[in-house]
Amino acid sequence: MKIDKIMPLLCKECNGRRFPIAFTGERDALWLCEKCKNFTNIKDEFVRDWTEKEIEENKAKLDNFSNNVTTEKTPEIKRRSGVN
Ligand SMILES: [Zn+2]
Repeated sequence: MKIDKIMPLLCKECNGRRFPIAFTGERDALWLCEKCKNFTNIKDEFVRDWTEKEIEENKAKLDNFSNNVTTEKTPEIKRRSGVN
């Protein structure tokens, strides 16, 4: 029996891990490759590029996340001395 259910979990271009992103109004989630900056559908077909706006939003989200984590135990930043 042939199983032709494709999971676009890995990017066929860079072999990187893809992430399912759900959009309101869309029935199926789209799969994002952060390296290639594009979305594919569940059938592993190219849908569209990852837009600048979405990249910015994603970056902001990650920044917030790491800020929250690092404020727990902020490593003391040593100022370089003797720099002219
Ligand atoms: Zn990729």
